[in-house]
Amino acid sequence: MRTYSQIEGDGGSRVVEQISDLNAAIARRMADIRHVVAVGSGKGGVGKSTLTRQLGAVLAAQGKRVGILDADLNGPSQAVLGGVQGIPPLPGEEGLLLPVSRDGLKILSVGSLLAAGEALAWPSASPRHTHVWRATRELAKLAELLAAVCWGPLDVLLVDLPPGPERTAQFADFLGPQAALLLVSIPSALARGVVARSVSALAPLPNRLLGYVENMSGYACAGCDTVRPLFPESTEAAGLGVPCLGRIPFDPQLAALSDEGRAITEMADAGPVATALTAAAGALMLALEEP
Ligand code: ADP
Repeated sequence: MRTYSQIEGDGGSRVVEQISDLNAAIARRMADIRHVVAVGSGKGGVGKSTLTRQLGAVLAAQGKRVGILDADLNGPSQAVLGGVQGIPPLPGEEGLLLPVSRDGLKILSVGSLLAAGEALAWPSASPRHTHVWRATRELAKLAELLAAVCWGPLDVLLVDLPPGPERTAQFADFLGPQAALLLVSIPSALARGVVARSVSALAPLPNRLLGYVENMSGYACAGCDTVRPLFPESTEAAGLGVPCLGRIPFDPQLAALSDEGRAITEMADAGPVATALTAAAGALMLALEEP
């Protein structure tokens, strides 16, 4: 049996060449994207995917060219949120995938390719060792997707990251230093603690952390003009040590239209949540344009 130290070069696998070919293909596909914004949290269920989708819709309605990449291959939400579940991306002129367009947004989500409720499997030849391969395969698949997709020119590509502070950093590292980070938190001490871990996990990386958006920042009650506290500490500053780019209230209307794959921009009178999303989208663009 030969050991690693006896293998010369790449052992004839061309693995190094293959990786650099893949990286070059990804760089070509992303060359016309002005800003890559990875939207993470660390904590699940705080509305990260919802805000990614709605901020994208607001920016698109303002005339920005926007794409959404669902990087959560295991728990994709963007196909449902974008109303493109069951509508797969089709190959374009050069055989590259064309993301599905909806509301002026270009959406690429594995959820478009899977039946509702179906999960991606990461099989391994060795039982109880799928964990060894999972992260590697997941990022390798994402790299293959990025190398195969034709976004065209974009002002902003929003990347919806999976939950987990360590994974937030792992995906930021994967996307490269040009990807800026936007975190989503809610005004609960529990969520804030996890999001703070994401801030720490990102600290050693060169990626710019633009700030955070506080979601579920009060309750926008239907039929009244007030926003009431939702969490005990709603009125306190989140204290994450990074700029707050917006506070989005909880609005049951937003939950309902998200489930239907619709955008807030479709609603004539969407109230405080639409105002807050527009302000957050503006703050995000300002932060991106800052030198
Ligand atoms: P995450 O991506 O952080 O796991 P989701 O975006 O999937 O969270 O949101 C979880 C649930 O909360 C969804 O049902 C979504 O519709 C709802 N939700 C998120 N933000 C809001 C909000 N501001 N108002 C109403 N419902 C919201």
